[in-house]
Amino acid sequence: MQEYDVAIIGAGPAGSMLARFLGNKSLKTALIDARNLDKPYEGKGLIKSCGGMLAPDAQKFLKSLKIEIPAYIQDDIQPKYVKTYDVQSKQTRRYGRNYINLDREAFDRFLLEGIKADNFFGFMANDIKKENGHFIINDKIKAKILVGADGCQSKVRRVFFPDLGVRKYISIQDVLENQLSREYECYFDEKISDYYGWSLPKGDKTLVGFAIKEKDNALEKFEKFKKAKGFGKEIERQGTLILRPGFFHKISCYENLFLIGEAGGYISPSSAEGISYAFKTAKILFDSNFDVKTFKRKMFKIQLNIFYKNLKSLIMYVPFFRKMVMRLSIFN
Ligand SMILES: Cc1cc2nc3c(=O)[nH]c(=O)nc-3n(C[C@H](O)[C@H](O)[C@H](O)COP(=O)(O)OP(=O)(O)OC[C@H]3O[C@@H](n4cnc5c(N)ncnc54)[C@H](O)[C@@H]3O)c2cc1C
Repeated sequence: MQEYDVAIIGAGPAGSMLARFLGNKSLKTALIDARNLDKPYEGKGLIKSCGGMLAPDAQKFLKSLKIEIPAYIQDDIQPKYVKTYDVQSKQTRRYGRNYINLDREAFDRFLLEGIKADNFFGFMANDIKKENGHFIINDKIKAKILVGADGCQSKVRRVFFPDLGVRKYISIQDVLENQLSREYECYFDEKISDYYGWSLPKGDKTLVGFAIKEKDNALEKFEKFKKAKGFGKEIERQGTLILRPGFFHKISCYENLFLIGEAGGYISPSSAEGISYAFKTAKILFDSNFDVKTFKRKMFKIQLNIFYKNLKSLIMYVPFFRKMVMRLSIFN
């Protein structure tokens, strides 16, 4: 068994960002990810189920670290507007938003470049326990501190924080051959979901997805939506869980055990944007020096932000308010 000070499970934006910060510290760190991130990437760009739209907050975060996103990760099409459809009120509006349209898989690999983790492991952590004050992972790794950065289906969360209390949605996302529209589009249709759907260009393909409540005939509803919008047959289908934190989101941590990124339910309840939350929660954990009290105190601003985003989603997701907002063209 190899011994570490810190074991981070998950090398998505949250885990890799934390490993980057820890690289300059004297803590011995293991970074574990189920993906084969050390194998050459063939540039298909559609491995991870994500829209790959980097929000302004995440861009600002990277800028503050002087990390520039290389051109090869950026899509040729960079939409400057989000076109919003309200199916029930039959209204359409465009509002400006400066996202960067990314190849998400390439982005994750780029974030790992230059990280000085003491060891990088490519395996699925499926056996995690605590024994005599240490965390044991797959009987291979022993660590004093465990960080769950393992995304929406987090094993660390399921083992140690099973009652996080976030709403769970099923996100179905299809990869289609290029469709006519090359815009970033959002769909609100209360008959399908109280969340939303999207379509966006990705290379010569189009991604179409919808987040639908768990156990709510997600697949059937998604197929209906695609048919109604005239989207063709998919060449690939991705399905995953997506979390939606409530107004009073709990911070998950105990002594030497922390959840960051989407594993902890840190994702925007209004737009499902999660990369900036992954970055910010990694930074907060690093700044807290793994001290539970300090972490909880510093995370208060993330809780406030989630509260505010829930208020915003009341406006955008309650049909009456959305209709008014769109009619008044507030975001136009
Ligand atoms: C369909 C869809 C579209 C989205 N679109 C956007 C978008 O456009 N913009 C945006 O900002 N956010 C988007 N999100 C949200 C965003 O993808 C996540 O919030 C973000 O990736 C969270 O980062 P993370 O590092 O916390 O987790 P992740 O990026 O999910 O990384 C977790 C890592 O942990 C690894 N892992 C998981 N379990 C284990 C295990 N047991 N053992 C070892 N490794 C493990 C995984 O391989 C993965 O690499 C979208 C989500 C979905 C589902």
